[in-house]
Amino acid sequence: MAQSPQWQCIAGCGACCRLDPALRQEALEALDPQQRHTYLAMVGPDGWCIHFDTGARRCRIYSERPDFCQVSNLARLFAPNGNGDPVAPPPPAAASPQLWPAEMHDLAIRCCTDQIRSEYGGRGRVMRRFQRAIRRP
Ligand code: SF4
Ligand code: SF4
Repeated sequence: MAQSPQWQCIAGCGACCRLDPALRQEALEALDPQQRHTYLAMVGPDGWCIHFDTGARRCRIYSERPDFCQVSNLARLFAPNGNGDPVAPPPPAAASPQLWPAEMHDLAIRCCTDQIRSEYGGRGRVMRRFQRAIRRP
């Protein structure tokens, strides 16, 4: 029997690096004042993060990116899941997706799917690559 999908990031995407506040109101509201300040300082004139290399579609400061860019922090930022139930934040030791509970994978997959759809379309190559990457036999 096929297992439930397992979230993973794919190279050459970066859909979540489009920080335009008009498109990311929900994300902004979930941040604390310091994080919000950092976030807004990263918004470039085109709405993409100033640290995003739009040609190569990669983060130029990946190892030093803010905590709110790390998908393992999604549960802390968006506590209620789609059913209105809290998603338990993963403990620090569970930063690796292999250790995430299933609902954490579901949350991350929903976020990525929404952002990829919004940036690259629901039937584009990036979405197809993402769907393939998260599928488990
Ligand atoms: S939207 Fe998801 S798959 Fe795309 S770069 Fe961001 S975390 Fe990775
Ligand atoms: S810091 Fe890096 S990961 Fe975070 S939004 Fe900017 S480009 Fe994306």
